[in-house]
Amino acid sequence: MSKILTIGEILVEIIATQRGDGFREAVPLIGPFPSGAPAIFIDQVGKLGQECAIISRVGDDDFGWVNIDRLEADGVDISGIEIVPQGTTGSAFVRYREDGSRAFVFNIRHSACGTIELSENTLALIDTCTHMHVMGTALYAPSVVKSILIATERVKALGGTVSFDPNLRPEILDAPGMREALQAVLAKTDLFMPSGEELFLFAEAKTEKEAVAELLAKGIKAIVIKRGDKGASYFDKDTWLDQSGYKVEEVDPTGAGDCFGAAFVTFWLAGLEPAAVLRYANASGARAVTKAGPMEGASTRAELDALIQSQGNA
Ligand code: ATP
Ligand code: MG
Repeated sequence: MSKILTIGEILVEIIATQRGDGFREAVPLIGPFPSGAPAIFIDQVGKLGQECAIISRVGDDDFGWVNIDRLEADGVDISGIEIVPQGTTGSAFVRYREDGSRAFVFNIRHSACGTIELSENTLALIDTCTHMHVMGTALYAPSVVKSILIATERVKALGGTVSFDPNLRPEILDAPGMREALQAVLAKTDLFMPSGEELFLFAEAKTEKEAVAELLAKGIKAIVIKRGDKGASYFDKDTWLDQSGYKVEEVDPTGAGDCFGAAFVTFWLAGLEPAAVLRYANASGARAVTKAGPMEGASTRAELDALIQSQGNA
């Protein structure tokens, strides 16, 4: 039985209910919603009934418990979430602008999850896992980067597999040592899951076809490109697949990529055909955008099957 691990930020997200530019005025807010890209990812994995765990840190506060309670209820092994006694759980305030882009105020590096490092407990947890998912957003502090690299090496050394969603904020790329860390992750990656232009972050090639070929030649087994409401594509050495997105009403796009990745990794590890894996991932991403709150649209397998069947794609 496989067990999926991720490491990184656990946050609450607090959302402005009116569109506009940032937070320089008082605006109505809704939240706290459980959040953090690795947390959203692992919650969707757990909801699919797949064994999984997250290594992170929260403060002993309500923002921490709203996350721990949700993850536990959805089937995630929470034994790797450490509570920092004097710490505060991370947060993200988000306001959608009129053009659909997002203004954020983050508290990550100086929150409890900014102090993640491995302990005897979490090292033992890593050795029970067979797959490591690296989330680019989690590379926000040197000790977290180090923890992720150690976990990636250990899972791989024990015969496991690695997936990598670059999901990078551009400013992260210029942090000291970051390019080296990213190359180290990429060298261990079996499944690479960029969104749109992120495909070109690690390739010299300028066209999609050439960049895919270049990355596969480096030893990556499969590449999945996320394309928002247009769906997604899958590539390995034998197969090239494009699938359009499911038609849904978009309420809140945050978390779509994380849910998509979770469903993809879960069904890929289960050995389904690439076309079926991609359908589940597309369905999970589509359902994720229909609910306000980044983790609120995570789905059960029955919910994914229902969406796939309703649109004649089963
Ligand atoms: P995130 O903001 O979570 O980082 P992302 O950029 O990683 O998102 P997207 O490409 O926006 O990822 O979305 C991931 C997947 O979710 C898409 O490939 C698609 O399957 C699905 N998806 C996203 N938005 C929509 C939508 N409006 N309608 C249908 N499906 C969608
Ligand atoms: Mg993304």
